Amino acid sequence: MKRCKDGSQVTDFVTVGAVRNRVGQTTHYVCVFSDIETLKERQRRLEQLAYFDSLTGLPNRLLLMDRLRQMCAAGRRHGRQLAICYLDIDGFKSINDNLGHHVGDGVLLEVARRLSREVRSGDTVARLGGDEFVMLFSEPGTVADIQAVLDRIFCSLAALPIGCERRGISASVGITLFPMDDGCADTLLCHADKARYQAKRSGRAGYCFFYPLAVGATLPDVTLEYLACP
Ligand code: GH3
Ligand code: MG
Repeated sequence: MKRCKDGSQVTDFVTVGAVRNRVGQTTHYVCVFSDIETLKERQRRLEQLAYFDSLTGLPNRLLLMDRLRQMCAAGRRHGRQLAICYLDIDGFKSINDNLGHHVGDGVLLEVARRLSREVRSGDTVARLGGDEFVMLFSEPGTVADIQAVLDRIFCSLAALPIGCERRGISASVGITLFPMDDGCADTLLCHADKARYQAKRSGRAGYCFFYPLAVGATLPDVTLEYLACP
């Protein structure tokens, strides 16, 4: 680290060479300082592009799956639960078609902000692409707790401005719960996606739990009826 005249600190790469006289004694050392801040900045930018969505700044699918694998492994070791919630905005194409892509982008940004506000530190909100987002809730508590978070999210989205209008949006969410649903990360995401599809088919603007997890479920307030008819 080197301190500049303006007080800022930069990382330097330093090469030190010895200067010897005719009889081989070292008389001087020459230090060459290379500023590698630009290189580090480029590396940071590449990491940002690889792991984060460029529109919203949220983790992308790659980082989401990495975190999901880690959370499953930690969950297995420490007996912790995990909720995987797959959210898809209802009728998003019509916003693009009627008001323009830039308004659609604004809606996606605002959805990202509002979802991030509702999760705790240690949870994850990711954008998979298009109008699809995934939330990972570590230690989600009971089904009623998850329901309460989703209700808050639905209220927040219902008040979201679209362009100059205050008409709000709705979303369909599919949820699966680990370890009752004891699959690998890919399977869990696939099950949450299936439940999302079911929520769409059930009329949208709601959520659906991945059905088979009810078999042998151990969450305190899970009932088959509740999961079958969210
Ligand atoms: P459904 O109610 O069934 O979910 O349908 P939908 O109209 O919401 O449309 P769907 O989820 O099938 O597709 C999402 C659309 O989002 C498709 C694509 O045109 C649009 N889209 C994808 N990426 C972006 C983006 O970065 N910005 C904007 N504005 N639109 C995007
Ligand atoms: Mg959609």
